[in-house]
Amino acid sequence: MRKTLAVLLCLALLTATAGVAVAPVRQVPDPGRAAPAVPPSVAFVAAPARPTTLSVVAAGDLFVQPALTAQAAADARAAGKDGHDFTQILAPLTPLTRQADLAVCHIEQPLARPEGPFTGWPIFSAPPQLADAAADSGFDTCSTASNHTLDYGEEGVRRTLDNLDRVGLRHTGSARSAQDAATPNVFKVRGVKIAQLAYTFSFNGIPRPAGKPWIANLIDVQKIRAEAHAARQAGAEIVILSMHWGTEYQNEPDRGQTGLAAELLADPDIDLIIGMHVHVVQPFEKIGDKWVAYGLGNLLVRFADGSRENTQDSVVPRFTFTEVAPGTWRVTDVAVHAFFMRYYPQPRLVDVAAATRNATPGADYAGIFRRITGYVNLRGAEAAGLRMVR
Ligand SMILES: [Zn+2]
Repeated sequence: MRKTLAVLLCLALLTATAGVAVAPVRQVPDPGRAAPAVPPSVAFVAAPARPTTLSVVAAGDLFVQPALTAQAAADARAAGKDGHDFTQILAPLTPLTRQADLAVCHIEQPLARPEGPFTGWPIFSAPPQLADAAADSGFDTCSTASNHTLDYGEEGVRRTLDNLDRVGLRHTGSARSAQDAATPNVFKVRGVKIAQLAYTFSFNGIPRPAGKPWIANLIDVQKIRAEAHAARQAGAEIVILSMHWGTEYQNEPDRGQTGLAAELLADPDIDLIIGMHVHVVQPFEKIGDKWVAYGLGNLLVRFADGSRENTQDSVVPRFTFTEVAPGTWRVTDVAVHAFFMRYYPQPRLVDVAAATRNATPGADYAGIFRRITGYVNLRGAEAAGLRMVR
């Protein structure tokens, strides 16, 4: 949303001004006439019209391996800049994220110091300019709870959040203090308060520091429900959960995911679940009148050559929320964009529908689109109203 904020504010102001019957600013004094009931200064400060729909775009794991760090360094050098530039790799996504009212991302690994080290399996870290690229791409709020949150301990958590703060990105799922952790991530989008909360199934066996269980969020149904309720109490009209969960490389959601989704979406305080972690695309499902996206796939990834091609798939849904009753919002449209991380001649994100239309060489994009559509539909999503964007 970030780049369009100023434009939206101007439009909202124009709309509000045009819709209000405004008394003339400078009236010629007329002793025979009563003063206007509403002073002009009051009429001019009418609040922007409250929206009846809001668009929320969500993307999968920003998961950086050393080969991607090397590409980001090469892209920065080519642009005459120091450090790392991930914006060129992400470029095909930005029209979608910048136009959304809210764009949600997931930072899988801790951010390192500018000089590194930038490491891959089993302990991951990414250059701090990943935060700059996320902000530049139009993201507004990011989840940081993952099985790699504690890869660089407390220092890694703090450095990651400091970098997200530096670029003006909101964050949730890990914290620098008990007080931070107790404050729900609630923010205003076009005048409507929204919350994003985030949890992970594991920290890969790394314990949270003694006495600091608040440093990062583990999945715990009672805790999630209590924190969603606290977000409502803080004024949130929409509560979005980011869940790092599931069985790696498995397109079908596992029983843990389906059970949690049903239980959490039955809670009136929770409106939408978006899932990350398994490195492949998992289905969307409508449960009651709410949606879960079990797994969006890796938005950024560069696994070793010879890895299964479907680990390069991801989906970026655009959810339209409509206010169906005062203060109650429901997803009334789900439009899903398919993406693919091309590895050669250099790593770049590809909009699969556009590549199919344009017969872009290098991969069977029509086949990739069919494959991703198949995964999205494993639990009847299109029949329930979801649309794949072609
Ligand atoms: Zn993960």
